[in-house]
Amino acid sequence: MALKNAYLIDLMNRVEARNPNDKQFLITVRSVLESIEPVVEKHPEYVKAGVLELFVEQERVIKFRVPWIDDAGNVHVNRGYRVQGNSAIGPYKGGLRLHPSVTEDTVKFLAFEQTLKNSLTGLPIGGGKGGSDFDPKGKSDFEVMRFCQSFMTELYKYIGADVDVPAGDIGVGAREIGYLYGQYKRITGLYEGVLTGKGLSYGGSLVRTQATGYGLCYFTEEMLNAAGKSFKGQTVVVSGAGNVAIYANEKATQLGAKVVAMCDSNGYIYDKNGIDLACVKQIKEVRRGRIKEYIDVHPEAEYHEGCSGIWTIPCDIALPCATQNELSLESCKALVANGCYCVSEGANMPTVIEGIEYLQSKGVLFGPAKAANAGGVATSALEMSQNSERLSWTAEEVDAKLKGIMVNIYHNVESAAKEYGMEGNFEAGANIAGFLKVANAMYAQGVV
Ligand code: NDP
Repeated sequence: MALKNAYLIDLMNRVEARNPNDKQFLITVRSVLESIEPVVEKHPEYVKAGVLELFVEQERVIKFRVPWIDDAGNVHVNRGYRVQGNSAIGPYKGGLRLHPSVTEDTVKFLAFEQTLKNSLTGLPIGGGKGGSDFDPKGKSDFEVMRFCQSFMTELYKYIGADVDVPAGDIGVGAREIGYLYGQYKRITGLYEGVLTGKGLSYGGSLVRTQATGYGLCYFTEEMLNAAGKSFKGQTVVVSGAGNVAIYANEKATQLGAKVVAMCDSNGYIYDKNGIDLACVKQIKEVRRGRIKEYIDVHPEAEYHEGCSGIWTIPCDIALPCATQNELSLESCKALVANGCYCVSEGANMPTVIEGIEYLQSKGVLFGPAKAANAGGVATSALEMSQNSERLSWTAEEVDAKLKGIMVNIYHNVESAAKEYGMEGNFEAGANIAGFLKVANAMYAQGVV
């Protein structure tokens, strides 16, 4: 697809001139503008009111220094970010990522995507994202604590339960959220729902840990059902071995599938008998080890160095749940050649644009991240509701709400694609349905 609308072409040129170094952000904005072209043509009032101009400019980009001291007494300085993307439909909401690859571009593109994703959940949450180039891998608990305390000492100025509510993402799990929350409370004296993904003893929600992976499978099952298929009896490849991947594996298995492969950033395991998930949890959640340790327990399984080979394993359904751009065009071709008919994204932007176009051209059912992995943020919003009420819901209540939200997202995305002449293109449908709600709110609120 290429932009045809003269106004959008001009707008995109201006976005490029203003953000010359933000490659991933530019790719994302262009791809969203391409999808919403028919919406813009149907709603000239949005153009007149400057809604698109406002939509492509993030409300606030906060960048700060994060100094901390390691166990040996050495000083380190990392860079922290919080991008407050769009607050038209609610307080900014989105994860914090701790990974050496994090740059301003990473956080900007993720915040932009998050705005649309959060809108799709149907819940009152705006879009944001944050993080740092700090690498928690190989650090002691005290080092991670000192980093998190330093990070929050700056971040607390910009967040709050009704302002901006960060959550976890890559490298930020229960441990990091705990340290961040402790420091926020210490500085502000407020016991409020300012972060989600908290521990159950201090305001966390049941099912939040499982939510992104479970939600991915609820969305995918609905998409499969509409095509007369289901997870039952299918062979599945799940990339990653982190929070999303583990619970995607768990739910896909509960729905009757056999998950045969998983990976971490070093390599992948292939177990034709079906991955022993308890073993993966022990390695990854308990010991924070490497996925190759799996073959110490299961010598009949295979371990291969490098990650891209995971997509050469024959499967019916592929669930990329590791990181962005992990699924290249070549990998998409390998999947299709081996009979894969469904790719549904648990990670954010794991499939390169040319890969998505290739999959769609081959009739592969494609569940785009902003719809398929919205279960995590949706459950975070349910955690916010519980914090506001000072109540905790049961696991069954949260899971039922999560399932309802994911099924609704599928139907909204499917019908938006159909209404705008792109039936079956759930990527376009997600962009359109997500944009419409935000655009209506921005239009109503004026030039702010
Ligand atoms: P985790 O840090 O828990 O897990 C990430 C997993 O991916 C790890 O196993 C990691 O391996 C692996 N990985 C990282 N980089 C690569 C790579 N280049 N190649 C192969 N494997 C890699 O993160 P999450 O599970 O929380 O997040 C995964 C994805 O899902 C991200 O894109 C995130 O933005 C997205 N997401 C997460 C949500 C959540 O609720 N957690 C919500 C919505 C989206 P290693 O251990 O070696 O680093």
